Amino acid sequence: MAAEAYPRFWKELREPLPLETNEPGVFAAGDLHAGAMNRVAPAVGEGSMVVWLAREYLALT
Ligand SMILES: Cc1cc2nc3c(=O)[nH]c(=O)nc-3n(C[C@H](O)[C@H](O)[C@H](O)COP(=O)(O)OP(=O)(O)OC[C@H]3O[C@@H](n4cnc5c(N)ncnc54)[C@H](O)[C@@H]3O)c2cc1C
Repeated sequence: MAAEAYPRFWKELREPLPLETNEPGVFAAGDLHAGAMNRVAPAVGEGSMVVWLAREYLALT
């Protein structure tokens, strides 16, 4: 999805990374994000994703 699709909340020129919030470099994993499945397995999986995604974010900055 193009960055123009987030004119109100997303100010960066790039597209947000998966699980990235409207605050660049801040990720939401587990129960706290909208539409969460409220199960242990996805919370753990998303947490492990964010380890990799944080490295991706740092590589962009
Ligand atoms: C009674 C009950 C039974 C459940 N049974 C199952 C089940 O059988 N199978 C299943 O898959 N899922 C079950 N779940 C759901 C599962 O527990 C959650 O989906 C999972 O724990 C979510 O993990 P999380 O890391 O997102 O959040 P959490 O496990 O809630 O972790 C969030 C952590 O952040 C801490 N925290 C909060 N605010 C702050 C702050 N300001 N500063 C620092 N730390 C903070 C909290 O203390 C907590 O330790 C159950 C949930 C409940 C309540």
